[in-house]
Amino acid sequence: MNPFSLEGRTALVTGANAGIGQAVAVSLARAGAHVVAAGRTPCDETAALTGGETMILDFADPMAARDAFSARPVDILVNNAGTIRRADAEEFSEADWDEVMGVNLKALFFTSQAFAKAAFARKAGGRIVNIASLLSFQGGVRVVSYTASKHGVAGVTRLLANEWAARGINVNAVAPGYVETANTAPLRADPERSKAILDRIPAGRWGAPSDIAEAVVFLASPAAAYVHGAILNVDGGWLAR
Ligand code: NAP
Repeated sequence: MNPFSLEGRTALVTGANAGIGQAVAVSLARAGAHVVAAGRTPCDETAALTGGETMILDFADPMAARDAFSARPVDILVNNAGTIRRADAEEFSEADWDEVMGVNLKALFFTSQAFAKAAFARKAGGRIVNIASLLSFQGGVRVVSYTASKHGVAGVTRLLANEWAARGINVNAVAPGYVETANTAPLRADPERSKAILDRIPAGRWGAPSDIAEAVVFLASPAAAYVHGAILNVDGGWLAR
């Protein structure tokens, strides 16, 4: 059997309408998975690309996924949905703190909890792949709630791996570097910032969403059976500098 095949598995990807989430959905489908593309609006384009289905999950309510795993067995959960707010720390608002923490961290944990409860109830294992960030390790500037949330994602990934590894669920994360998506459009629109970033990336280019997606497929696959609590940097070498 091909240890990288996801034939016969069902995967749910949050924030799957665009960017990294859409690329993850496409790569999981290419590896053989049936993909449920979740978004706050219907992910029709992603469903067409994957031949899978779509469902609404809007993490304006971080508990939105409480029933997402009761209708169908899901083997692989990719917690990709994420948001970012930029402002100087001294001016940063409570609303920008709460919204980012709600989507990036609270929803990630409670979606994982709902997934695990459903898996344990049917005596099955599974895979959780969280999308972390370079700001799971570094401080960044003007993005305090994003940095706090992504440091939290690293910690929650390790904690859940500790609790669930022996129960058949592998919990890991991929930490993308600078990837060309809507999330980084303001950085790429600023020529100075863009050049400074590019000059520091050993690979000499920004990441593509597919670079991240293929690493997610690995962590979701039988090939990663003994990988627990890892945070896989996919950053063109940024953190090696
Ligand atoms: P993106 O295109 O902005 O994608 C973000 C996704 O999250 C979109 O599908 C978005 O849906 C969804 N989302 C935002 N708020 C939501 C909410 N309240 N409920 C449900 N879904 C929500 O940016 P991206 O770069 O692909 O980001 C995907 C993940 O990668 C995020 O976790 C991000 O932090 C992480 N990441 C990105 C980079 C990078 O360089 N691009 C680097 C490190 C980590 P809408 O389209 O409806 O807003």
